[in-house]
Amino acid sequence: MDAAVASLHPQDPMHCLRPQAVTDAARAFVDAFPGDVLYAVKCNAEPTMLRAIAAGGVAHFDCASEGEVRLVRSMFADAAIHFMHPVKSRAAIRSAWSTHGVRDFVLDTDGELTKILEETGGGAGALGLVVRLALPKGSAAYDLSGKFGAAPEEAAALLRAARPHAARLGLSFHVGSQCMDPGAWTRALALAAQVIAAAGVAVEIVDVGGGFPVAYPGSTPPALALFMDAIRAGAALLPPGVRLWAEPGRALVAGGASVVVQVQARRGDALYVNDGVYGALSDAGAPGFRFPHRLIRAGGDPVASVQRDFTLFGPTCDSADVMRGPWSLPADVREGDWIEIGQLGAYGTALRTAFNGFDRALVTEVTDSPMLATAGYEAGAARAA
Ligand SMILES: *Cc1c(COP(=O)(O)O)cnc(C)c1O
Repeated sequence: MDAAVASLHPQDPMHCLRPQAVTDAARAFVDAFPGDVLYAVKCNAEPTMLRAIAAGGVAHFDCASEGEVRLVRSMFADAAIHFMHPVKSRAAIRSAWSTHGVRDFVLDTDGELTKILEETGGGAGALGLVVRLALPKGSAAYDLSGKFGAAPEEAAALLRAARPHAARLGLSFHVGSQCMDPGAWTRALALAAQVIAAAGVAVEIVDVGGGFPVAYPGSTPPALALFMDAIRAGAALLPPGVRLWAEPGRALVAGGASVVVQVQARRGDALYVNDGVYGALSDAGAPGFRFPHRLIRAGGDPVASVQRDFTLFGPTCDSADVMRGPWSLPADVREGDWIEIGQLGAYGTALRTAFNGFDRALVTEVTDSPMLATAGYEAGAARAA
């Protein structure tokens, strides 16, 4: 990594991909989860990442748009693709069904059920229908309860309405992203069990969604095994024979990318860098996530041993492009220095825009260990691939 910076002197943001870290995280999740693992493609749709996910044993993909469906199908002819957005265009349903072999569709209203049935010609006895259940507002960093999902009574009615059309019937939920509380899954599964009982119809699948957290500075989640224990405890309340699905995004890819930004100006405690909230750092803006980071100074010049807190400003001309951190860095940070920002594989590199013309980036694959929030960064065997 440092070698790549030393040789390239990147003046544009440099995205450092670590596909092996993604493969390892995917493998660990697949091994731990008692059911099928669907990767939530929106979290990072970079082909390198998708290949790394597949190499970790994930053969199912949770897609939310026609574009994601097309991309995954173009890369993996045999993958199972599940269309998990509760509000889809008719054209997207039709092309997913007819052109891309998608069989499973999520819904949270009668109107969406009608659309799915009309655009798939009734499903030809092969349709998987999954009802998205709304959850009470939880404690996740990103609450996903406000936008999608049917209330428990409606969800039960939708299960009954969908049952005659479904070769496979499922119930799904999402506890919210970066959810630190394993108990959230136990409670959601208990609610799912009540909804299934109230519906009075057979259900083949319960999808526990995504939301599995990763470590960021100041926020260390419980071990993955504790989430799996909580899921097993909740799943024990379901009717026997129900198959579990999960839709992790962040937990599989967060460690798979860092971004090296360059300091273009310093004004006191403010550093003006070449990437920001319209680039890979959107979660460091208003959502206020903190990321592991470290200074890289060209030529091996010494850096101050005293640390100090900085605010980062991104390159665009508007004042929303600010990342308050605080970012603790050597006190003598200066123009021309680089900062490597880690844990950006999830909702980082995927959210870049071309706003204000700042869409240039270098992409390189590296083989050093990912920059973990909880562990010291290991330089060592870094090299650009
Ligand atoms: C975003 C999303 C996911 C992935 O969530 P993570 O918090 O990244 O694990 C899974 N399922 C659905 C329906 C989503 O919208």
